[in-house]
Amino acid sequence: MKDTSSGVVLASYGRGVLVEADDAASGDATLRCSLKGRKQRIVCGDRITWTYQPAHDGPSVESIERRRNLIERIDTRGRAEPVAANIDRLAIVVAPEPAADWFVVDRYWAGAILKDIETLLVVNKLDLGLEAIRAEIETYRSLGLPCIETASQSGVGIDQLQAALDGKVTLLVGQSGVGKSSIVNALAPQAAAQTAELTRDAEGRHTTTTARRYRLDPKTAIIDAPGVRDFAPPASVVRAAERGFVEIHAHSVECRFNDCRHMEEPGCAVRAAVRAGTIAPRRYESYRRLFRLYEKLGP
Ligand code: GDP
Ligand code: ZN
Repeated sequence: MKDTSSGVVLASYGRGVLVEADDAASGDATLRCSLKGRKQRIVCGDRITWTYQPAHDGPSVESIERRRNLIERIDTRGRAEPVAANIDRLAIVVAPEPAADWFVVDRYWAGAILKDIETLLVVNKLDLGLEAIRAEIETYRSLGLPCIETASQSGVGIDQLQAALDGKVTLLVGQSGVGKSSIVNALAPQAAAQTAELTRDAEGRHTTTTARRYRLDPKTAIIDAPGVRDFAPPASVVRAAERGFVEIHAHSVECRFNDCRHMEEPGCAVRAAVRAGTIAPRRYESYRRLFRLYEKLGP
């Protein structure tokens, strides 16, 4: 007898995945499934089916559903590496401490734009005072990026964040130490505790540094992706860099040349806007860095 079940991947390890069954009433709500072969590459957020087969000790993954989307980053050698699948929204978490790397924030946002995913900036540790980062936050607000201010330790702003996440699957990203785990704990204490338990190995250590998915209610989930020092979305063409920067993309229609790269070309409306103060110089510098990275990596 072959009994197939389906569910969503909460965490993916080298040799198996932790999944949440769609039909939790039929058995364990969360269980581990082994992979059938080394070829299977399963990502947090994937929808899969599994079976109990006589040849295996426990459940093993049968198939991976077609992904709605896949967030990837480029590794140091320029290869695309998956982060999470099937997400509706990206929440980039920053804080006054550790000092934010705004170039990385820009790249996360650009990556979401390239995938048509809505983005939100979460400014955590409000209690430490936001004076030092106020100007940057205002730049993002003026570009249309919604910003929510929170203090995950005291719970300030968590209701507002919860309302913003409602009914969606949100990928939480941000450098280590900004308070992502604290935010997950504030939003979903039970799910966080359960996953912490299930992702321990035999010695009680936490086994994974990959992304983890937490359900907040039947329709809402968050995926906590581990802090990465650097992030860049993969792109097949250098021009993708432009699309990732809303204000640069908007000004580009005024450039003299259709294929203007906004580097040294004459009649560049983007550089004119930087000189006029309409485009923030730091954002423009961020664009240049991403463009150069794509140029270096090639198609
Ligand atoms: P993660 O690495 O992004 O998951 O960050 P953690 O949730 O582990 O938090 C990193 C540090 O920031 C911990 O020492 C937390 O206690 C602290 N922290 C988290 N949220 C807040 C907050 O709202 N205010 C302050 N002052 N500290 C916070
Ligand atoms: Zn231009």
